[in-house]
Amino acid sequence: MPAAVAASSQWTDDTGVRQPGGEVHAWLPGQNQTLCGLALSRSALRRFPHVPFDFGATDVLTAADRIGWICPRCQAATRERPRRDRTFRRP
Ligand SMILES: [Zn+2]
Repeated sequence: MPAAVAASSQWTDDTGVRQPGGEVHAWLPGQNQTLCGLALSRSALRRFPHVPFDFGATDVLTAADRIGWICPRCQAATRERPRRDRTFRRP
């Protein structure tokens, strides 16, 4: 299951869809904590199950973004892939 976004604040875009703002973490729908171990109930993070967490390390936050900070531990957790899965296999 792909990771979704949990964020400290929210705003609504032009189409009326809730979007994350403030501090952003990765969260797996169905769990009660972020990938870096924050309890959603205690940290008052809002859940965005419709927003996939797909922020890369090279993503640049512009002034137009409502997102102020992306959790580096959640970024690292969502990038983790076993290296042996990358082995090239000839067809
Ligand atoms: Zn996090």
